[in-house]
Amino acid sequence: MARVAVVTGGTRGIGEAISVALKDAGYKVAATYAGNDAAAKAFHDKTGIAVFKFDVADFKSCEKGVAEITAKLGPIEILVNNAGITRDGTIVKMTPEQWEQVIHTNLTSCFNMCRLVIESMRARGFGRIVNIGSINGQAGQYGQVNYAAAKSGIHGFTKALAQEGASKGITVNAIAPGYINTDMVRAVPQPVLEKIVAKIPVGRLGEASEIARGVLFLVADEGGFVTGSTLSINGGQHMY
Ligand code: NDP
Repeated sequence: MARVAVVTGGTRGIGEAISVALKDAGYKVAATYAGNDAAAKAFHDKTGIAVFKFDVADFKSCEKGVAEITAKLGPIEILVNNAGITRDGTIVKMTPEQWEQVIHTNLTSCFNMCRLVIESMRARGFGRIVNIGSINGQAGQYGQVNYAAAKSGIHGFTKALAQEGASKGITVNAIAPGYINTDMVRAVPQPVLEKIVAKIPVGRLGEASEIARGVLFLVADEGGFVTGSTLSINGGQHMY
């Protein structure tokens, strides 16, 4: 029986590529999203992948979402915590709302989703969790204290949960993408983007499919000995 995989923020950008790669590899996939119904519909029409709308920053809405996915597809054995946002600004201009939105959407979401799937994974003796961090959680980034803190938190969260899951067949790993060609990065002003690309040794942005390849490696049944790791996929920009 095909394993059920959930990709949060799985309808656009990196998440879209992950959802499609998992489907192509034979998994039963649920892609979640927050509010962009048009993008989710276009994604569903193109791929046939089931979509579920709920806010990963909110525990109660995750509870409903996970119950709905489980009822429709079966118990979740693979979870990719990918949903994320940026609300950039230097700290002198950053509002408490910008701080909270980014921490809750990028980091609290990992707690919410893992908390809700972990008991079923433990009972089944199998689970694969991949959390999408960021190069900016490893190295920091000007104008992103909120985002860097959330992503850095993901790396610690991953190592702690990996220890809790290890004896139960559950692996927990992170991927730290560098700059990837998605809406999030296309929103960066062109002159800033040019400076960023100039610092990437391979000389280009990454593609979402290059992150998806890492996810496939980590979630494989054969991946049971890889846990608590962070896989950096960043064109050589930051060697950690
Ligand atoms: P996009 O902005 O292209 O897509 C974000 C996805 O997350 C969308 O599907 C969006 O749903 C969903 N989402 C956002 N907020 C919520 C929420 N509260 N609840 C549920 N879903 C939500 O992002 P990217 O593909 O660029 O980024 C994906 C991940 O990779 C993020 O965690 C990001 O931080 C990380 N990353 C990205 C890098 C890059 O260069 N792009 C570099 C390093 C890390 P909707 O469509 O409804 O808005």
